Amino acid sequence: MKTCRLFSPAPIDSAPLVFEDLPIPQPGRGQVRIKISVCGVCHTDLHLVEGEIHPPHLPVTPGHQVVGVIDALGETLSDKQERSPILKVGRRVGVPWLFSACGKCNFCRRGEENLCQAAQFTGFHVDGGFAEYMLADARYVLALPEQLTDEQAAPLLCAGIVGYRSLKKADIKQGDKVGLFGFGASAHLCIQILKHWDCSVWAFTRSKQHQLHALELGAAWAGDAGAEGIGSLDRAVIFAPVGELVPVALEKIRPGGTVAINAIHMSDIPSFPYQTIYGERTLRSVANATYQDGVEFLDLAVKAGIRSTVSRYSLKDANQALSDLKASKFNGEAVLVVSGD
Ligand SMILES: [Zn+2]
Ligand SMILES: [Zn+2]
Repeated sequence: MKTCRLFSPAPIDSAPLVFEDLPIPQPGRGQVRIKISVCGVCHTDLHLVEGEIHPPHLPVTPGHQVVGVIDALGETLSDKQERSPILKVGRRVGVPWLFSACGKCNFCRRGEENLCQAAQFTGFHVDGGFAEYMLADARYVLALPEQLTDEQAAPLLCAGIVGYRSLKKADIKQGDKVGLFGFGASAHLCIQILKHWDCSVWAFTRSKQHQLHALELGAAWAGDAGAEGIGSLDRAVIFAPVGELVPVALEKIRPGGTVAINAIHMSDIPSFPYQTIYGERTLRSVANATYQDGVEFLDLAVKAGIRSTVSRYSLKDANQALSDLKASKFNGEAVLVVSGD
């Protein structure tokens, strides 16, 4: 099978991903094999390829927004799995960033498996979707609503699900005035949920192309994060991995408001006066997402009529897709089209 693998992290312009032929993997106990149709390209893939986050072993195949069809089943783990309508050969499924969790620790028991110390992440601990086939843990594959095409579904599996968790963690209430800092893949999906919740959205991004995209999607305002005189926000979500934005966002929210950071990696946050966070403002990070977040969000995506803006690339052009992502060359999200839809 064709794969795009990372052997050694390096700046994306040196094309670190290597196109390689490998044997098709065989599913083990509790696993399913997926014949991949489309895989989304995420900022986390870029952090991985450029060496800003460090996988436990190399080489590894990136990609954690995987849409495909189950084409083989390993030995099942339980009767429940045996009866699951999702776990059938021929069934279309999605594999998100959360590949698996231990299921036994206090985090897992509380439904916070996104924080499980033994959690494994797709395309990081295990080979992901920049390939023609992958293995997935049968407990964590997601059923995909039939209303969504493969290309439409892929960006929802990380940009969408983790974005949705960020909106929940930002305590957003119906009708809130919400600031989004950075307007890439995740924000362009979040704005559609926020509009569905009757919120007004203020988009802060340097990219003129992204500002226009935000306005097209119904933002009340779009401009640079340095802009003055926009009044105070109820909540904010930071998507850009830029620590300088943290005090900027805190200064823009009202007392009692929340700033949530949707980023797996961020540059250092500069020091700021206590006054900036005083007034019961909350600052919090968002880490990954739970299985339940995925189930809730995919349902909401259909109800809210969410449309992903996608730019298509072939599997062998994965380096180019990541390079264009870094340069903000497209709106929304890049997807690798692995096999015909
Ligand atoms: Zn656990
Ligand atoms: Zn991601």
